[in-house]
Amino acid sequence: MSKESTHGGERLVIAIDGPAAAGKGTLARRLAKHYGLAFLDTGALYRAVGLAMLRAGLDPDDAEAAEKVARDLDLSLLDDPALRGIKAGEAASKVARHPGVRKALLRFQRDFAAHAGERGAVLDGRDIGTVVLPDADVKLFVTASPEVRAKRRFEELRGLGRDVTFDEVLAAVRERDERDMNRTEAPLRPAADAHLLDTSELDICAAFRAAREIIDAHLKAKAGGRACT
Ligand code: C5P
Repeated sequence: MSKESTHGGERLVIAIDGPAAAGKGTLARRLAKHYGLAFLDTGALYRAVGLAMLRAGLDPDDAEAAEKVARDLDLSLLDDPALRGIKAGEAASKVARHPGVRKALLRFQRDFAAHAGERGAVLDGRDIGTVVLPDADVKLFVTASPEVRAKRRFEELRGLGRDVTFDEVLAAVRERDERDMNRTEAPLRPAADAHLLDTSELDICAAFRAAREIIDAHLKAKAGGRACT
C-alpha cells in the first residue's frame, strides 16, 4: 500500500479493526497524531447511515432504503452528537449487514486511505484489514473481553450524561458482537496478517506503546530493506 506521498516520502497506511469499545478509536487517533497521519473512524460512516434512517422513520433492516441513504450520505451527520449513542450504534450494525451499504461506503474509505494526509492514513473499523485495505502496511486487531469493553463504553456514555445502566451496555456490546461477527458480508475477524492486541489488561498508554512497537518495527524493516537493494 505504500506509495509516494506528496512530500516525496512513502505513504504509511494503517488498518485497525476490532469489536465495539475495544479502544481502537482512541488508539487510532493517538497513532495518527504520533505519525502525522490522517484519521478516519469508519464506524462513524455506518452510524451516520443508521442515524439518518432512524431520523427519516425508516427501518434499518430495509436494505434498499439503507443503500440509498448510504449513497447520498449527508457527511455533516459525522459531527452530530447523537452519532455516539446506543441507538445509532445499533442501527449502524443493522445497516452494516447490507452489501449495498458496504459497497456505497467502500470508495470513500479507499479514497481516504489513498489521498488524505500527506504522509498517509489510519482507518479504524471492522473490515479494514480484510476488505477495505487488504494491502495496508500495518494491520492491528484490537480486542478486549466483553465486560471490559462494556465498562469502558458505560463510563464514556455516563460521562456524556447518558442515562444507561452497565447491564444495558453489556447487553448492547454482546448483541453487536454477535451481529458483527456472524454476518455474511465482511464479518468482523482478524486478517491473516494482522497483529493481535488484547487491551483487556492494558490502559491506553500501554496499548499505544505496544502498537508503536509494531509500527516502528515495520518502518525499520522497510528502511533496512531499502538500504540493501
Ligand atoms: O466502531 P463503531 O462502534 O462506531 O461501529 C458501529 C457499527 O458499524 C459496528 O457495530 C459495525 O456493525 C459497523 N461497522 C462496520 N464496518 C466498519 C466499521 C463499522 O460494519 N468498518
